[in-house]
Amino acid sequence: MAVVTQREFGLFIDGEAVEPASGEVRELTEPATGAPLAKAAMAGEADVDRAIEAARAALEGLWGKTPPNERSRLLHALADAIVANRKELTELETRNVGKAVSSVKGEVAVSAENFRWYASAIASIAGRTTPIGGSILAYTLKEPVGVAAQIVPWNYPIMMAAWKLAPALAAGCTVVLKPDPATPLTVLRLAELAAEVGIPAGVVNIVPGDGPTTGSYLVRHPGVDKVAFTGSTATGSEIMRLCAEPVKRLSLELGGKSPNLVFADANLADAVPSSVYAIYYAAGQSCDARSRVLVERSLYDEFVNSFSETAARMKVGDPLDAETQMGSLISQAHRDKVHGLVETGRKEGAEVVTGGEPTDGDGAFYPPTVLAGVENRMAVAQEEIFGPVVTVIPFEDEAEAVRIANDVKYGLTATVWTSDPGRGHRLARQIKSGVIGINLPNTAFPGLPFGGYKQSGFGREGSLETIEMYLETKTIFVSTGGKPVNPWGL
Ligand code: NAD
Repeated sequence: MAVVTQREFGLFIDGEAVEPASGEVRELTEPATGAPLAKAAMAGEADVDRAIEAARAALEGLWGKTPPNERSRLLHALADAIVANRKELTELETRNVGKAVSSVKGEVAVSAENFRWYASAIASIAGRTTPIGGSILAYTLKEPVGVAAQIVPWNYPIMMAAWKLAPALAAGCTVVLKPDPATPLTVLRLAELAAEVGIPAGVVNIVPGDGPTTGSYLVRHPGVDKVAFTGSTATGSEIMRLCAEPVKRLSLELGGKSPNLVFADANLADAVPSSVYAIYYAAGQSCDARSRVLVERSLYDEFVNSFSETAARMKVGDPLDAETQMGSLISQAHRDKVHGLVETGRKEGAEVVTGGEPTDGDGAFYPPTVLAGVENRMAVAQEEIFGPVVTVIPFEDEAEAVRIANDVKYGLTATVWTSDPGRGHRLARQIKSGVIGINLPNTAFPGLPFGGYKQSGFGREGSLETIEMYLETKTIFVSTGGKPVNPWGL
C-alpha cells in the first residue's frame, strides 16, 4: 500500500482549509505503531464562531436556493469522489484509527453508498395536502431546520461523518461538524472532496477539537438550530442538558451493551463465527458490538469452547495487512481502560478463558478476550467496555433469555440465533432494541433505520427517519374564497 505522505491539516471552514485562530496544532500518531502520522489544527471558540457564520451565510445564500435535484446531483458526485479516492481514504483512516484495513475498506465503501442513498431519498421530501372541508386549502411544507451542529466519535470517523452529513445536506441544512480531536483526518479530506465536486462554500465546515471545550461551545452556540450527536451516553446526557434551556432540536446515538442470544437449536456453524465477528469487529470499539453473549445452559460449555477457540485463532496485528482481522485499539489510554474493566471482571468472579492481558510492544493492542461464568449484574455485563471483550452468560429458558437481554440501561442492537422462526420473531418483539438480527450479525444498511431504545439514544440514522430530523414541518391554511369563519361571527 502506498504511504500517505505526512501532511498538515487545517480546519475546514467556508469551503477551504484554514489556519486555526486558536493557534493550536496537534501531532497525531498511529495507534498501532506510535509513529507520527500528521499534524492537525484544533478549533477554538473563535473558529467555531467563524464556521457557524459561514454555515448561516450558505443557508441563507446559495445553498438555500439550490433546488433538490441539484442537491441530489452533488451528493452523487461526492459519492463518486469517495469511490475515486477510496485507497487514500482507506489508508488514512486505517493509520489514524488502527483498525484492520479489511474493515475500513468496507466502511469507506459504505460511506459512499450512504451519500448515494440520500441523493435518491431527496425525492421523497414532500409535504401533503389534507382536505378539511369548507373553502380552506390546507397543506404542509418541509423546510430545512437550519444550521446543524454534528459531533462524532473516533471509532468510525468517515462513516459517522457520512451518516451525519448526507441526511442534513439532503434536507437542505448546512453543517458544522466536530470530529474527535484524535481522528479528524478522513473527515477533513471528505470536506475537501465536497468542495471539489461543487458543494458550495459554507455548507460543510469541519472543526476538530476537544469535547468539553470546543464541542460544548458548539452545542451551546445560539447560531445552531439542531444538534446531532454520536458518542457515549454520559456525554449525550450532558448535551441533552445543554439543549434543554434553548429547546434545541436534538438527536442522540449513544452507547450499547448489546445481547447475542444463542439457543440450543441454533446452527452453531453460523452462530459461532458470526458471534465472534459481532464482538471483535473494529476490536470491539463499536456501539453495536454484541458484547453480551447469552447461551442456553445445555449448550453453554460447548459454545464457550468453540467461541474461545475461534477468537484465539483471529489474526491480530498490523492494521495495514489485508489478512489482519483485528488491529489495535485507538490509544494506550483506552487499552488501559479496557484492561481495567477485565481486571474488574476477574475480581467479580468471571473466568478469563482467552486473552485478558495487554499485548507487549508500542502499539495499543489487546487480544480477543472471553469472560465466561459471568452474571448479568456484574459490571462487565452492564458497562460498555468498548474493546475486544465478550461476556458469556448462561440462561435456562426463553423467558430468562429475554429478561437478561433487556436487563441493561442500553437498547441498541441484538441478535437471536435459533432454528425456530416463530421464536426469532417472538423475541424480536420482546427485546427492547432499535435493531434486531435473526440468525444474522448485521446491523446497518443504507435506507434502514439505525438507532437506540432506552439510554442508547433517540432518533434514527441511515434512513428516511433521519432526513425528517433535519426538517421542520409547516402547516399552511389558505382561504380559497368566502368570508373567513370565526365563532364570534365578526
Ligand atoms: P465521547 O462521548 O467521549 O465523545 C464523542 C464525541 O463527543 C467526540 O467528538 C468528543 O470530542 C465529543 N464530546 C465529548 N464531550 C463533549 C461535551 N461535553 N460536549 C460536546 N461534545 C463532547 O464518546 P467516545 O468515547 O469518543 O465514543 C465512544 C462512544 O460512542 C461509545 O459509547 C459508543 O457506543 C458510542 N457510539 C455510538 C454510536 C451509535 O450510533 N449509537 C456509534 C458510534 C459510537
